[in-house]
Amino acid sequence: MGIFQMTKTVLRNIAGGPATRQYPAVPARTSPLTRGHVVFDPSTCRSCNICSRKCPCEAIRIDKEEKIWEIDRMRCIACGDCVESCPFGSVTMEQDYFPPVMEHAVERYTITYVKPEKPAKKPVEEDTGA
Ligand code: SF4
Ligand code: SF4
Repeated sequence: MGIFQMTKTVLRNIAGGPATRQYPAVPARTSPLTRGHVVFDPSTCRSCNICSRKCPCEAIRIDKEEKIWEIDRMRCIACGDCVESCPFGSVTMEQDYFPPVMEHAVERYTITYVKPEKPAKKPVEEDTGA
């Protein structure tokens, strides 16, 4: 890098201020693709356990007996696998970031197990013998 180019870069950085933000004191920037934090809707969850199996960080734990769905915010890396895998749309992603946590922050929800409806049976076609 030539001296001229380096001087230009230094001056640009001085004039432009820091490239980083003092988050969380200063709100983080978001874009339409930002994956902020996982939101769970217990009313639609059917405790199928798919989100828990898909989570690469073991952040989600489901106890069917106790009807508990819980997420450890410290483990969650906001990868979105649980959101994509939930067949009932019970897990969604909101763009704002969850406040930073310094220790395991387990959020616990009580779920109402709703048995999935069976698909309607097809009417049996009568054998006309033709
Ligand atoms: S959140 Fe979705 S994937 Fe996870 S147990 Fe409930 S219904 Fe199944
Ligand atoms: S966003 Fe990723 S890491 Fe977080 S709970 Fe869902 S699957 Fe696990």
